[in-house]
Amino acid sequence: MVSRVIPVEDFDLVIFGATGDLAHRKILPGLFRRFVAGQIPETSRIIGAARTEQDDEAFRAEAARAIVEFAGVKKNDPRLAQFVELLGYTAIDARGEGGWNELKGRMREGAVHAFYFSVAPALFGDIAERLAGHGIADAQSRIVVEKPFGRDLASARALNAMLAQHFDEHQIYRIDHYLGKETVQNLMAVRFANVLFEPLWNAQYVDHVQITVAETVGVAGRGSYYDKSGAIRDMVQNHMMQLLCLIAMEPPYHFDPDAVRDEKLKVIRALEPLEPGDIVRGQYQADGKEPGYLEAAENPDSRTESYVAMKVRISNWRWQGTPFYLRTGKKLRARTSEIAITFKEPPHSIFDDTGAPKANELVIRLQPNEGMNLKVMIKEPGPGGMRLVQVPLDMSFADALGAEGADMPDAYERLIMDVIRGNQTLFMRGDEVEAAWAWTDPIINAWEDSKRRPEPYDPGSSGPEEALRLMHRDNRRWREIRS
Ligand code: NAP
Repeated sequence: MVSRVIPVEDFDLVIFGATGDLAHRKILPGLFRRFVAGQIPETSRIIGAARTEQDDEAFRAEAARAIVEFAGVKKNDPRLAQFVELLGYTAIDARGEGGWNELKGRMREGAVHAFYFSVAPALFGDIAERLAGHGIADAQSRIVVEKPFGRDLASARALNAMLAQHFDEHQIYRIDHYLGKETVQNLMAVRFANVLFEPLWNAQYVDHVQITVAETVGVAGRGSYYDKSGAIRDMVQNHMMQLLCLIAMEPPYHFDPDAVRDEKLKVIRALEPLEPGDIVRGQYQADGKEPGYLEAAENPDSRTESYVAMKVRISNWRWQGTPFYLRTGKKLRARTSEIAITFKEPPHSIFDDTGAPKANELVIRLQPNEGMNLKVMIKEPGPGGMRLVQVPLDMSFADALGAEGADMPDAYERLIMDVIRGNQTLFMRGDEVEAAWAWTDPIINAWEDSKRRPEPYDPGSSGPEEALRLMHRDNRRWREIRS
């Protein structure tokens, strides 16, 4: 299979927060890899901006160190030296007036202009205002904003309203890096480019759907930050909601940003309010080696969840009666993200004595080892009559696509290139984000009003016992968490 890398237009990309963790770990290494792949024109400019006083050379050295560390490239790789030639730096305090004219002077006419806000959301307004006020951004410029996009409906609305004062919706790229994952986009390809699944993709044939995002790490090191957020805000309102939308949405009329986002929005609006019995929250315990959640969060009274499991219902024709079970947590048995669609059992078995056929299951793995796996019933090989056995039709994208599959761009790389191309399909629209908060707000508020504590769970387990019961009471079971 021949790799098709289509170079993007010549661009000037300004990274606010270029000295920060995200820029070091994801943005700069991602840009480097796209440069090596031949997607970034050599005339393009990447301008770092942050308060730290340094010149271009110092920033190039800093960027090179980050790329060596996080892109696994050798220090003396000639492509690294070529890439850092694209970089420049302007010291700017988002809340001050210095540096903006210098930045303006660096922007070239005729190039695509993009501004990546890789800073705390509290600075989004300051940067937007100054970019517009100093005439640096115009109606063609694009801005990229990071999560978290608000912490509730009111703050998300305020953020949207503030950005809307200076930028049109078509200029705003709200990142949810889950949408940049290869498999997540493949969800749309599988559903809408094959005739095989779509006729079965409804409550008549799908028994239930499970979405799992499990992490092995705890919150140590960023506990007090995480404690203000919790699993619902950090994972469910954004990443898991996006996954749920892509599985549940109707076919858009075209693979076009607004057509896709319109359909996702309809799903969010069709979510039923959650009943109190449909949600389980957990907090991991200490395991003898590492502290438990409360200690890591430095808040012995914290009721913030490091784990949540929920049963979600979608009130529309397609999904009436098919629950979607979502769970995510820290310090779990394995690091894995997957979506499992369990189909209904055949209505009648003709194989009386040899075991009833089991339900088909389609598992879409996001990480590790992105791929798909469809469980089907076959005859067990050999003599002895018609005995049935369930086997996986396994497809790892890396195996199926060879070297090209193994070298897939990571989510950030793809999304940044989409910004330059002006394609918003994989970015959240303002009304989508608000609708997601409108659904999660009552869940969070009801919890804050209650006196309950999260259920304890052991590190390395699959979560609290209560979460198992959430499934058992529906005569279903969670899939095993394993990598
Ligand atoms: P970080 O490591 O704390 O970096 C913050 C950056 O902002 C630094 O470059 C800092 O540089 C700059 N900065 C702070 N105050 C500034 C000001 N007044 N004017 C201009 N620049 C200022 O944070 P981060 O982890 O990179 O996160 C950045 C954003 O991405 C946040 O919104 C975060 O929620 C989001 N995010 C991060 C990750 C991640 O993995 N790190 C993942 C998802 C989302 P100076 O001190 O030099 O000014």
